[in-house]
Amino acid sequence: MTASHAVRCCIAGGGPAGVMLGYLLARAGVAVTVLEKHADFLRDFRGDTVHPSTLEVLEQIGLLAKFERLPQRRVRHLGVQLEGRLQEVIDFRGLEPFDYVSFVPQWDFLDFLAGEGRRYPDFDLRMRHEALGLIEEAGRVAGVRVRSPAGETEIRTDVAVACDGRHSMLRKAAGLRVRDFGAPMDVLWFRLPREASDPEDTFGILGAGHMMVMLNRTDYWQSAYVVPKGSDEALRARPIEELRESVARLAPFVRARVRAIASWDDVKTLEVRVDRLERWHRPGLLLIGDAAHAMSPIGGVGINLAIQDAVAAANALAPALLAKAGPIDEAPLRRVQLRRELPTRLIQGLQLQIQKRVIRRVLRREAAPRIPTLLRWLLRFRAVRHLPARLIGYGVRRERVRTPSQATST
Ligand SMILES: Cc1cc2nc3c(=O)[nH]c(=O)nc-3n(C[C@H](O)[C@H](O)[C@H](O)COP(=O)(O)OP(=O)(O)OC[C@H]3O[C@@H](n4cnc5c(N)ncnc54)[C@H](O)[C@@H]3O)c2cc1C
Repeated sequence: MTASHAVRCCIAGGGPAGVMLGYLLARAGVAVTVLEKHADFLRDFRGDTVHPSTLEVLEQIGLLAKFERLPQRRVRHLGVQLEGRLQEVIDFRGLEPFDYVSFVPQWDFLDFLAGEGRRYPDFDLRMRHEALGLIEEAGRVAGVRVRSPAGETEIRTDVAVACDGRHSMLRKAAGLRVRDFGAPMDVLWFRLPREASDPEDTFGILGAGHMMVMLNRTDYWQSAYVVPKGSDEALRARPIEELRESVARLAPFVRARVRAIASWDDVKTLEVRVDRLERWHRPGLLLIGDAAHAMSPIGGVGINLAIQDAVAAANALAPALLAKAGPIDEAPLRRVQLRRELPTRLIQGLQLQIQKRVIRRVLRREAAPRIPTLLRWLLRFRAVRHLPARLIGYGVRRERVRTPSQATST
């Protein structure tokens, strides 16, 4: 075991929740260490969406202009394709103050935020540092056990925040009760080459028994092919041609390119889960983002919620940490759950309804997918298409950054 290190706040997990919280606390003058188990942020399966609510946060902290210099695509409307016909269902145009979702590969977004964080002397991001468990003393969490390239070590802290995602190690270590809501699907994740003549938009395609979402990443389509939960092993026992043929039937414009999926090695399986902790905190420990509430990919809102949780957590923790040295009490941790639980419940509730009424039925082939005539008629009106856009883009309860800003070291 190498020598231990002490910090005011130790954050486990360098995803959107962890890096944003680390940034906001360091900017406020709180010494923070963010632990990320991987060597870099380059993971293909992260979502790409930076929503209007996150753009608002970037504007509040003065990073919007720099963020806009990152390569990105602005998506102003989203549709689903049924029986070869594209139906626009979500329309951000006309919404204030941002009328688009920015599609930025998440590794670029996290690199950008981490780079901005490093400008503050109190920001310490440690890559290849994996949180292994909690150190508990006198009935409270007093630190995190960590595996680093130099060996195992301990980080003592006044408050630990678990942002380690939907397979959270610290959630297990804390023994908190989880409500598992289940999901009928998992996602096969692969790339297909993109050509200039292809559709511009990111969109979903529904066919009998199958569905897929195609994300435009300029020179390739990042494709998310939805399969029934637990079917992965059986699918992989089948020839890869079956997957290629199904993809070609769903999206005929890529038929000539499906051979880019050379074998099952080119296909990753992403497990979908939807769950939520009953309590997001214990003395000395707070959980936010997917560690507190694993989000379904429906609507692509998980990053949005993770960032909003981080803002709420920074607003609650920074005053308590700046007010006095030493461990903080549980009241600010409780306030984070009080603030963020309702928006999370509402969005998860909607995701569960869509899972039940649309995805489960499509995957079981119970229903040939179709949009009811009345809804199709209503969707002709932009005001109707604004409703899901507002919910997805801005969420239910918008957080505002209230933490102070210290001078940067560069
Ligand atoms: C198939 C799929 C597609 C999705 N697509 C989208 C989308 O397009 N848009 C969207 O908004 N949401 C999407 N989501 C949901 C979204 O990915 C999550 O809700 C969001 O990433 C949560 O952010 P987070 O920071 O809480 O956790 P994560 O993004 O999961 O980040 C957790 C971080 O912690 C690190 N970590 C894990 N364990 C440890 C440990 N023990 N020690 C140190 N570090 C650790 C991980 O490496 C990771 O970097 C999708 C989800 C799935 C399953």
